[in-house]
Amino acid sequence: MTVTIGVIGGGQLARMMIPPAINLGLKISVLAETEGSSAERAADMVGDYRDPETVYAFAETVDVVTFDHEHVPEQILRELERRGKPVHPRPDALQYAQDKILMREKLTRLGVPVPAWVAISKSSELDEFIASHGGQAVVKTARGGYDGKGVRVVRDSSEVNDWISGLKDNEKLLVEERVEFVRELSQLVARRPNGEMKSWPVVETIQLNGVCATVLAPAPIKNTAVLEEAARIGHEVADGVGVTGVLAVEMFETVDGRVLINELAMRPHNSGHFTIEGSVTSQFEQHLRAVADLPLGATALTAPYSVMVNVLGGPPEGTMALRYQDVLAKHPRAKVHSYDKTPRPGRKVGHVTVTGEVFEEVRAEAEACAAAFL
Ligand code: ADP
Repeated sequence: MTVTIGVIGGGQLARMMIPPAINLGLKISVLAETEGSSAERAADMVGDYRDPETVYAFAETVDVVTFDHEHVPEQILRELERRGKPVHPRPDALQYAQDKILMREKLTRLGVPVPAWVAISKSSELDEFIASHGGQAVVKTARGGYDGKGVRVVRDSSEVNDWISGLKDNEKLLVEERVEFVRELSQLVARRPNGEMKSWPVVETIQLNGVCATVLAPAPIKNTAVLEEAARIGHEVADGVGVTGVLAVEMFETVDGRVLINELAMRPHNSGHFTIEGSVTSQFEQHLRAVADLPLGATALTAPYSVMVNVLGGPPEGTMALRYQDVLAKHPRAKVHSYDKTPRPGRKVGHVTVTGEVFEEVRAEAEACAAAFL
């Protein structure tokens, strides 16, 4: 019997699950937020993922539920499990990607390295932390943040008065030391319900205004101890939280050579888009395999280097396809992915990946091709 995989959320991650689902002959069905979503081709239902009845009705039509984003309320997912519907990642694991304070508590219990942190609800607690951590701190809302929204670097609690005064009963803000890092790293791991794991090489991610802009795969680091530590942490976290599907562990390489975890994402992740062309099995195919409890695919690289550059914001006149005559002619090596989204400043509307033998050439071509869409 063909398995139908239900994806909640109609963004580009759901969209990029569609080709491997077709290749494997798996059915994929998306619950999209709006008409005209990126994953419209598989959007069999449009509705609000925060509405329990909408999600239950959607789940009735599929064999297993997974996600394009982490925002489906935990109670809804627990009720789905109670009704016998497989949900991957399970809410027991997903909670650590939904709430940054729960995530920090869990990682601390697991004994993996994280920045100094505290959960606060009062200005005085924040000012105390700032005073004992070099005069500044990074403040994060526990839930709902993405692409740097919900993250502020502050020197005084007055800079987050609005967040503190808006806290409801029992809500807290996460406060972290400001980590001095040389680069940001990401380890992608896929894990099946039975614990089988496969991972890709650690990559470097470069952010622009808090948004991922460029991914270098593998991370261009000579210090193999850092790479081994990042890989070890990634696997320990995947097992420790019991994730099913793809997990991205985002980390900092600090100036003094340590590796600290920034955050977790439990779904295919921007740092793994390069795997579509750069690996034998893409993160999207691997996610489908893992959530359908199928054997995982090989993760060997298809070329020594892959560079992925996001198309952020452009082109101003409309969708990326309007530039194809020019851009595809100039960059025949580049693999261009459009998410069919209306451009607006800073929005991720697509990405470009180049793979090859010579790192500098690969990077220059990917950057030039992505820039040609702006
Ligand atoms: P989001 O959930 O919005 O992606 P993150 O927690 O990943 O937010 O933070 C966004 C970016 O802010 C990170 O990629 C990093 O560049 C920076 N950042 C986050 N936490 C810290 C920290 N403790 N120290 C220094 N920089 C940080």
